[in-house]
Amino acid sequence: MMRPDLQQPPSIEDLDLLAETSQLLTMLDRDRLLERVIQLTVRSLGAEKASLLLHPDHTEEWNQVFIKHTNGSSKVQRYDQEQSLHFARRVLDRGLAGWVVRHKQGAVIEDTEQDERWHIFPDSTSGARSALCVPFLYNDSVLGVLTLLHSAPCHFSDTQLRLLTIIANQATVAIRNAHLFNTMHRQQRQLEAILHAMPDLLLVLDEEGRLLIANEAAARLLENGATQDSVVGRELREFLHHDSVLYMIYETVENPIKTGQSISFETRSEQQRRDYLVAISAWENSQESATYPAPAGYVVVMRDITTLRDLNRFKDEMLQMASHDLRSPLALIVGYCSLIALETPEESVVRDYLNVIQRSTERMKTLLDDLLRVEQIRNSPLELHEQIDVLDLAQVVLNNVRPLVDSKQQHLEVKLSLDNLPGVVVNPLLVREAMENLISNAVKYTPVGGRITVRSYIQTGQLHFIVEDNGIGIPRQALPRVFESFYRVRQEDGEHAEGRGLGLSLVKTIIERHNGEVWVESEVGVGSRFGFWVPIE
Ligand code: ADP
Repeated sequence: MMRPDLQQPPSIEDLDLLAETSQLLTMLDRDRLLERVIQLTVRSLGAEKASLLLHPDHTEEWNQVFIKHTNGSSKVQRYDQEQSLHFARRVLDRGLAGWVVRHKQGAVIEDTEQDERWHIFPDSTSGARSALCVPFLYNDSVLGVLTLLHSAPCHFSDTQLRLLTIIANQATVAIRNAHLFNTMHRQQRQLEAILHAMPDLLLVLDEEGRLLIANEAAARLLENGATQDSVVGRELREFLHHDSVLYMIYETVENPIKTGQSISFETRSEQQRRDYLVAISAWENSQESATYPAPAGYVVVMRDITTLRDLNRFKDEMLQMASHDLRSPLALIVGYCSLIALETPEESVVRDYLNVIQRSTERMKTLLDDLLRVEQIRNSPLELHEQIDVLDLAQVVLNNVRPLVDSKQQHLEVKLSLDNLPGVVVNPLLVREAMENLISNAVKYTPVGGRITVRSYIQTGQLHFIVEDNGIGIPRQALPRVFESFYRVRQEDGEHAEGRGLGLSLVKTIIERHNGEVWVESEVGVGSRFGFWVPIE
């Protein structure tokens, strides 16, 4: 058998083939690309049949098979049914394709009857006598195997093997390109779907305030009837006249925000009659390189909080109603009760009834007063803060609570490290109220003769205040709730000290107004430790 000349220089046809192959790089539809590879090689190398087995992405299974039978048709069939996959596994296991995958190199079979690398399957109908097989190598792993067959021996030459290897290399790059393109495309569609599903409004701006991304909800805010596509690429400045919220965003990003920092504010769009919580943060591309300087910009997320604000407004109205419409009649009832009591004989049952009414109305009045106090503090202006001497403040607190402690014959231990301090800026009335509240709770929930320790010190720019008692303690499951308004711990024995469950919520409100934090530790039957810290300015 004569082999064709192996060292022939490439013919014009070969060069044409290479030129056509380079066109593969422009194809982004992977299936069409593979069909084209098969068509090109079959035609140019005069094969009668070709098969291409492909690895799907990121798995070890070979589950895509492309086959072309030349008999007249130019069609390439794509198979992924079980039968063709069975064929793929078989040739990869024992056939020539398997040899090529294992050795990661191409092979020419001059005569299938003489070559060990060719396995003759008993049910094979291919009738192939010669074969050419090359791997698609990428990063040292095999993405696919292309096999060309012919019924005559010695049909393929080594030169053709080299040519097919070049084509396979080009095809591999093209497959990777198509894969990357598809991945990018898929990710983009995913991102679009997420942005679309997102209830919040999202804008991504570059450093110059140009819109890079806007989801649909945000696009509608920018301009009536706008879509994502119609606003991207334009400058935020162009839309300012449309909504006052946009102006606030524009003003915020005009003063550069540091990367990682975020600014948030609540605002109302009068045009839309909606309230928004706006959060703006700076972003920076971390993959800076000399050729591609890091792009940077801002991400703006706007959450519609209209319902929340409406609730808040409703609550304010309720409180106003409570303060005016309930407090005044209550005061009248209390007043008239005392007047009637003055006129009523001591031994009359009416007098007892009046006492009950009087006590009940008094209780309702104090409850309302406490409730309104919490609101009042929540809305109190921060300008009331002033520079004070905390040691003096603590002394006043201790003097005020002393009679209370004495009334239960409790032992009060005081540990203050507040000497020689620079003035601390707080609202003294409120902080005093918070301190007194913690101490009076300790007194209230500690039995007669118990021990109460008050500690206060400055550490790392924070004023700490701690009250410890050896009282009844608080069950672990109740701890997270004790700072809630109206929450009171249910006592095992049913005994309840007087209270409305507003004291600790008041303390929390005061401390949070000072940008501080409250905390509690407690164990039933052992005692409790309540504390807070506020930053000292
Ligand atoms: P009130 O004392 O009016 O019920 P607070 O808001 O001051 O309301 O406290 C909420 C609950 O936390 C109290 O009902 C009590 O059960 C528990 N509590 C507060 N301080 C202590 C303490 N020092 N020891 C044990 N329980 C406490």
